[in-house]
Amino acid sequence: MQCVSQQMGDAVLVSLSGRLDVESAAAAQRMFADVLTGGGSPPSMLMINTAELIFISSTGIRSLLLAAKQAKSDGVCLALVGLTPSIREILSLTGMLEMFGIYDSAGEALQSLRQTTVAAAPSVEIREIFGREIQESIRQIHRRVRSLGEGEVASYIPELSKANPDHFGLCVVTADGRLFMEGDCDQEFTIQSISKPFTFGMALESCGRERVNRHVGLEPSGDAFNSIELQSGLNRPYNPMVNAGAIAVSALLHAEHGDEAFSMVLERLSAAAGRALAVDEAVYASERQTGHRNRAIAHLLLNSGMVHEDVEQALDVYFRQCSILITVRDLGMMAATLANIGRQPLTGQQVFQPESVQSMLSIMLTCGMYDYSGEWTYRVGVPAKSGVAGGLMAVVNRQIGIASYSPRLDARGNSHRGIESCKELAQRFGLHAFDPLNAGSNFLKALG
Ligand code: GLN
Repeated sequence: MQCVSQQMGDAVLVSLSGRLDVESAAAAQRMFADVLTGGGSPPSMLMINTAELIFISSTGIRSLLLAAKQAKSDGVCLALVGLTPSIREILSLTGMLEMFGIYDSAGEALQSLRQTTVAAAPSVEIREIFGREIQESIRQIHRRVRSLGEGEVASYIPELSKANPDHFGLCVVTADGRLFMEGDCDQEFTIQSISKPFTFGMALESCGRERVNRHVGLEPSGDAFNSIELQSGLNRPYNPMVNAGAIAVSALLHAEHGDEAFSMVLERLSAAAGRALAVDEAVYASERQTGHRNRAIAHLLLNSGMVHEDVEQALDVYFRQCSILITVRDLGMMAATLANIGRQPLTGQQVFQPESVQSMLSIMLTCGMYDYSGEWTYRVGVPAKSGVAGGLMAVVNRQIGIASYSPRLDARGNSHRGIESCKELAQRFGLHAFDPLNAGSNFLKALG
């Protein structure tokens, strides 16, 4: 990447070219810091020319975002010039476009600075026809899948066995927040293991990638979600999606944030759902009273030094996070937040950093459906996470979030109707990551 700055009166033009990726982001960040704070008083306007930029990675986006935030807090006007369609798309998806005025040239940007402040970005238009088609498909899929009576409601947590096995809700939320629903989408249920990718993302952000990785691996286990098994030699849980890994992650959050840990989890999940969530106290009490297996796992982790001494407190975070009440609508919004690179589509809040979302989705793809993850990826091909209460969340990167609730589980603890619905949605709309219809990366598009 090349990064050149040029003084233009009391404004500065920074021209980026090539690839703004993990290798070059630090250089770009230094350049922005220099331009904004290096020469005494900050410039009146920071113009960024991206005409020659052919690729921007999530780390690159972070360097731009930091610069933009710094500029905003210093009262510096922000302008983008020479925006190509692919860079525009990326910045719009991450919500950053709105921070900048958009101009064809530096001259135009300077002229508008003299007259007024920045222009708002146009919102994405989704065609009505797409809306009608997707609603009709969800209705048809719901009708067909509803008739499937296989699977049993989970009973190892006594309170969960009270669920109505016939409840079934299915919803799709686009990355810009359009909601399509069918069935029991306002029925509350506990999130259970679907909380795991979110706490993993939080741990990455508050403890750093290396520390998290010392406590939990990144490999599919090929075993059941509650298996009492650690990676040989390292004595580390296989991944953050099985109970052992998720308990290690909750312990990290507790070690870092103490008694605040659970309220931070609840707050973050609420931000992703776009409304204040609460705990189902009866399920929480039931999990805590009967969670002997999880308690055994936690003590095994203490034995190998993978969790700190406060085992009971770490377990308490875990039991509470599993007992958070959500609806299919909430889960759809949470999935759409991940699809929208961490930004809640309706509130506009950046709930997770783009690079955390990349990590969360990767682990969901390889491990999110436990010992069905391989076949899931083969058949559906998108990151997903299931929970034993019957929820299922799937994410189509930068496109849509999918959520379902049906408490009838298959032998691996995944919702049977949820899996069937996602298989059909993926087929109908070409959602599989390797489907030839899938649009792919902006870098390849830029290569033409
Ligand atoms: N609370 C559940 C447990 O720990 C979560 C498991 C799941 O949803 N798969 O057993």
